[in-house]
Parts: sequence; C-alpha cells; structure tokens
Amino acid sequence: MIPYGRQTIEEDDIQAVVEVLKSDFLTTGPKVKEFERAVADYVGVKYAVAVSNGTAALHAACAAIEIGEGDEVITTPLTFAASANCVLYCGGTPVFADIDPKTYNINPEDIRRKITKKTKAIIPVHLAGQPCDMDAIYEIAAEYGLFVIEDGAHALGSEYKGKKIGTLSDMTTFSFHPVKPITTGEGGMVVTDSKELYERLVLFRSHGITRNEAFLTRNDGPWFYQQLGLGYNYRITDIQCALGVSQMKKLERFLARRREVVKRYNNAFKDCPNIVTPYQLPETNSGWHLYIIQVLNCDRKKVFQQLKEEGIGVNVHYIPVYFHPYYQERGYRDVHCKHAEEVYSHIISLPLFPGLTDSEQDEVIEKVKKVTEK
Ligand SMILES: *Cc1c(COP(=O)(O)O)cnc(C)c1O
Repeated sequence: MIPYGRQTIEEDDIQAVVEVLKSDFLTTGPKVKEFERAVADYVGVKYAVAVSNGTAALHAACAAIEIGEGDEVITTPLTFAASANCVLYCGGTPVFADIDPKTYNINPEDIRRKITKKTKAIIPVHLAGQPCDMDAIYEIAAEYGLFVIEDGAHALGSEYKGKKIGTLSDMTTFSFHPVKPITTGEGGMVVTDSKELYERLVLFRSHGITRNEAFLTRNDGPWFYQQLGLGYNYRITDIQCALGVSQMKKLERFLARRREVVKRYNNAFKDCPNIVTPYQLPETNSGWHLYIIQVLNCDRKKVFQQLKEEGIGVNVHYIPVYFHPYYQERGYRDVHCKHAEEVYSHIISLPLFPGLTDSEQDEVIEKVKKVTEK
C-alpha cells in the first residue's frame, strides 16, 4: 500500500534521538528550547512554545486569549475536528463559515456574515498548506477587533505574499504528527510575536505553574513556585525535540520534493475532464501537505474503494466537522455550509510525501486515471 502521507526519518534523525537518550534531560531540557528557536527563526517570529501536539497548541492559543463561555469563534468546517474542538475545550462556541469552493479555504465573505456581538476570534486553517486569503481576514479582524489564530498544522513553510505562515497573526499553531511537514512523533507549537501571549502559553503548558520571580505574589525561598492559573501538562520531551531540530534542517528539502510531486500530479491530470486539480491562490506558495482532487461524473465512494483495492492509500480531508455526532447532538443539526458539503462529496486525497518515488507516483497516476475515466 502506498500511504497518503508518511514521515521521512533518516540516520541523523535517529542519531539525534539516541544522543538525548544518553543525556541528562529527557524532558524540559535544552532540546526543547533549541527546537523552539529553530522554528521561530525559520518562520521569522520572536517567540515559540513547543507542546505535546498540535491540538494542545490550539487549546493553549485559545486559552491565551481567554476564550470562554459566551464567546464565539469562527472557523472552517472543512478541517480536522481539533480546529473547532479547541474552542469547546475553553467553553466557547465554534461557528462555521463556509469555504470558497475554489480554494477549499474559509471564505472571508461568509466570516463577515457569521459575525455577531459574541464573536471573539477567527481560526483560519490553511488546508493542504494553501494559505487562506489573509488580507481579507485581517480586514475583518481589524474592523471588528477580533483575534486571529491560524491553524498552520499543514502550513509550516507555506508563504502568503512573500511572508511565512506564522508571521501574520496573533498566534499560529503547528503540528508535528508524522504526516505533517516535519515530525516529532507527536508534537505541536504555537508561535507569536507577543511577549504577553508567550508568557501565558508557557504557563498553560505546565499546570499554570511558574518559578519566575517577576510573577510570584510572595516568595518563601529558592524552592518556591506558584500556580497562577489552571494549566495542563502539555509538555513535549527533549527526545521529541531532538528529532524536531534534526527535521527542521530538512524542511526546505522536504517542501521542494512535495512541490515537485504536486507539479507532476497537476501535469498528469490536466487533461482529465473528471478530475479537478487544486487551485492555487495567486501570490501564495503552498508547502503542499495534501494533494486533494475532486472527482466529477463518477461515484466517489467507488473510486475510493477501487483505489484502495489497487493499493493506493487514499483518504478524504475532511468530513465537515459539524457532521460528527458530537456536534449534531449539540445544536449543529441546522448548520449547513453548502460549498463545504458539495466539495466534501467529491474529494479524495492522493499520496503525497517527500519519500514518494516517481515510479510510485506514476502508479498512482495511472490507477487514478483508470478508475475516473469511465
Ligand atoms: C493534524 C491537525 C491538527 C492537530 O494536530 P495534532 O498534532 O494531531 O494534535 C489540527 N488541525 C489540523 C488542520 C490538522 O491537520
């Protein structure tokens, strides 16, 4: 089976992890800071807080802007559930704005329609690595005084108008799950230019506890620490961060290969009337986490099954979040984002990862053509 996504782990990645296992710190040691620095410098931001996974990063970001009961946060339905669940963790209400049927990303005009007095933030998701229409989103955010947290789980290395995703908003989150642009096994990060948000994120990552003298309300002595808020154990290990540091050195190479694979797919499918290839927003440079096609004039379920039977590890990104029973049972039964639902009914993600060989890709192309031609 050729999977839809796969990590690339090389000998030096393995060595980096082994070295940490022989060192003094398995967690909360120097590798965490080194990894945070590597990502912050790459993206071009002041602060980065590494956490245990991308979902924890989203939760921390929502907590840092004090999302709570009565607050609405607008996001896209065509995403992984975590983009909306993070709002629920904080007691807030996710509100879904429809997608642009061309880019599959959240449509700024529909964000505007969904704004109420309770709206506090927008969480745009750069689906497949394709940057959202950020200028339009900022215009709305500025007009209504909203926070913007970008879910950049797919978009480490993607660029919007020459700027890296991560430099544009109050906070941006990344995921280092094995299928994502780089991996730490499990892992996530929040990046920000705000010192205040940074300090809140650090507290939230570890129980709300600090030893920072500047924050203590009293100080009994050198052993002293205080819990200032309610945080979690969302710490990431040095073992994971050593892998992250090693992977960061390869990110540009990984992205270059992903872009090459996408170019080959686009070329191969350009004359296929039943296949819609990804549309690229002008002035953006996608890191291409996913290659999503729409299949037209054929039964998507059948195409999906046939490809699976042929050993092609296809997938669907994503089922609209509000379709899930958890959401349906909690007031989302009447929510309909017609473009998200329409796109959902046609999409299939094809294998895309740096280690995909040309011959594997040719096999995918041949089989996709075969099953969509009739
Ligand atoms: C992967 C992903 C997440 C969550 O990241 P984890 O590291 O798996 O917790 C959040 N949002 C999107 C869009 C993702 O693809």
